[in-house]
Amino acid sequence: MQSNQVAVHVPFDEIERLQAPAHDAAAPEICVARGDGIGPEIIDAVLDVLDCGGAQLNIDFVEMGSEAVRQGFHAGISPLAWRVLKERKVLLKAPTNGLPVHTSGSPNATIRKSLGLFASVRPCVAYYPYVATRHPNMRVTVVRENEEDLYAGIEHRHTRDMTQCLRLISRSGSERVIRHAFEFARLNHRRQVTCLTKDTAMRLTDGLFRQVFEEVARDYPHIEHRHLLVDTGMARFVSDPDDFDVIVVPNVYGDILADVAAGMSGSLALSAVANMGYYGAMFEAAHGCALDIAGRNVANPSGLLMASLMMLNYLGQPEAAQRIQHAWLRTLEDGVHTADITPEHPRARCVGTREFGREIAARLGSRARFLRPGSVTLPRLAGPRPLREAAAEPSPRHLVGVDVFLQWQGSRPDLLARRLRALSPSEMTLTMISNRGLAVWPQGMHQTVYTDHWSCRFIATGGQLSNAQVAALLALIAGVNLDFIKVENLYDFGEERGYTSGPGQ
Ligand code: ATP
Repeated sequence: MQSNQVAVHVPFDEIERLQAPAHDAAAPEICVARGDGIGPEIIDAVLDVLDCGGAQLNIDFVEMGSEAVRQGFHAGISPLAWRVLKERKVLLKAPTNGLPVHTSGSPNATIRKSLGLFASVRPCVAYYPYVATRHPNMRVTVVRENEEDLYAGIEHRHTRDMTQCLRLISRSGSERVIRHAFEFARLNHRRQVTCLTKDTAMRLTDGLFRQVFEEVARDYPHIEHRHLLVDTGMARFVSDPDDFDVIVVPNVYGDILADVAAGMSGSLALSAVANMGYYGAMFEAAHGCALDIAGRNVANPSGLLMASLMMLNYLGQPEAAQRIQHAWLRTLEDGVHTADITPEHPRARCVGTREFGREIAARLGSRARFLRPGSVTLPRLAGPRPLREAAAEPSPRHLVGVDVFLQWQGSRPDLLARRLRALSPSEMTLTMISNRGLAVWPQGMHQTVYTDHWSCRFIATGGQLSNAQVAALLALIAGVNLDFIKVENLYDFGEERGYTSGPGQ
């Protein structure tokens, strides 16, 4: 790791510079990760443009990605990088390579969660006709939850046949990201926030996200809000993106939607992400490290450049951000592009990564003539504050039953039920057996195809159960050589049920 200022890296001697102020020792301290694949090429181009554009930055380069993985550092981040990251709190990150199979967490996911970067903000903007797109007016911002959902990566193999991935959605996590989306809309004078979930199928997890959305929306009466089902909502989005403004979504839907939106706006390579938390932020390009084109000087640095402009705004340097954005837009308007872009321009000129950076730097000080610069103001939410749930009186929680999951090779749920009922202790009764979420006992159909993964629901016969009673049930099940895999406790929260019935029940 080396510590230095951007000013040491100056390959643009031939370019007449803007009258940029000299670098200041009090310039904000940030970390930069050079990344893998096309990372080093695009970060070099970006840092040169930032430097020429008058950005005041005090940079520490940190080791992150494949080299750190090779050295055996967890999640591809060296301990030194962690220390610097925790001190500096702002990271400009070029794409890093994935991790070996069976390693949990990528550098990205680990940084996001460790530093509490709960919201991923991704503007998707069309630059038509300089970048070809069928949606010339597109100007959408996707705000994606960053820490939870299926991407928490809690996965298990249960039986020969069955694997699972746990979907975690919390009230506090949902509120943080949804509030961030509304604050983003407020600060940037956006008219509408749309929430996408599938709460008809996932009543508890997506249902919670939607409920919190409706609650937070009440604090922003001047911003239009609506909820759409994620499937029909996405279909509507791809046919008419102009009907959308800010979209807030749980992690997995957001991952898919943001890439679709970036592609629709013209190119994934133009899209940038700001990962925002209470105490820090990470700025990166939306694309990966593109090993197929690495080292060939053909990659487009624009996504990372757009990320760095969001960073400059975040760091309170909007003038430098605007100056650079105008120069970048002017470069596109002049028909200068990298190979991934198909411009509709009579004098289009394809250049390499380095040259594209130089073309931008050469235009610093000129203004875009046709394209509209659109800086974004990123909310800086005050640290954790009492969330709604914490402020409310908590509902009493009662253990009212248990789902015991078994590996069982049989195909007659009625026989399994007979064995389980023979050992049911008096304080609970077997009420349902399901297979892949479909209730197959007491009612079932011969046509159903079973797996070796059975969920057996026991409900308290009166009042509540104790953990000791659940443990006693498991001992009975093990005693007759039935192979249990896991247990899910079933709770009521006051009058509300904290579990779903199988769809077949
Ligand atoms: P990762 O595995 O790190 O997520 P990837 O290479 O599989 O990354 P992306 O980087 O997201 O996937 O991009 C897919 C393809 O798009 C790349 O293989 C590359 O050809 C192209 N691409 C991505 N980024 C750029 C860029 N900045 N400039 C030009 N082409 C790009």
